Amino acid sequence: MADPKGFILELDPVKRPKLQTLPERVVADIAWYNANRASTRRFHPVKGIEGAVIHATAGGTSAGALSWWKDPRGDPASAHWIVPAEIEAEHGKSVIAAVYEALAAWHVRNDKFNPKVNGGKKLINHWSLGIEIVNTQKAGDTYSDWQVATTALLVRYCWAKYPNFKWVCSHAAVDPARRSDPGTAFPWDKFVALVLADSGDAGLEIDAVAAGARDGVPCGGC
Ligand SMILES: [Zn+2]
Repeated sequence: MADPKGFILELDPVKRPKLQTLPERVVADIAWYNANRASTRRFHPVKGIEGAVIHATAGGTSAGALSWWKDPRGDPASAHWIVPAEIEAEHGKSVIAAVYEALAAWHVRNDKFNPKVNGGKKLINHWSLGIEIVNTQKAGDTYSDWQVATTALLVRYCWAKYPNFKWVCSHAAVDPARRSDPGTAFPWDKFVALVLADSGDAGLEIDAVAAGARDGVPCGGC
């Protein structure tokens, strides 16, 4: 089993994919999470985004993660996306968006860093996007093919969208004393291959109707 502390990927800017859409469902109370579990980015919200951090929830459901983030007894925490587990209705269909990309979600402590990740730059929440995959990290809880492929799609989406996006790592890589997620069960090599594959998006379901409709709609300031 690979040690998640070594899950670090540096992307080649020359190989950036074309911009694509996400199969995404926004949580009903997204305004609450953005008001209470996110911060204004200290770096530029487009040019300042340089990577993504991969997490596991350590719980069994997306709803459980969302309610834990709300729980005053827990650490105030959040991430931009949640990738649902097999037992959930969203599995195979959509990821859950809880925090606007323009804001810093709270998924890595501000003083944490790894010298091999973005030159050891701290304030990781402020230059990254956080992806939580629903997985208990207990023995026998494997990651589904869809979860791995969808997490790769999220990373390809970020890579395509943000011009300086280059770093992908586990939470364990930047906070090894406290965190081991996404755990030894996460198939890092398979995930990296999907991130780097030119054809990596072909097998993923993207809503063709929504994509077509988007082409005809002005996108404001983007
Ligand atoms: Zn984590």
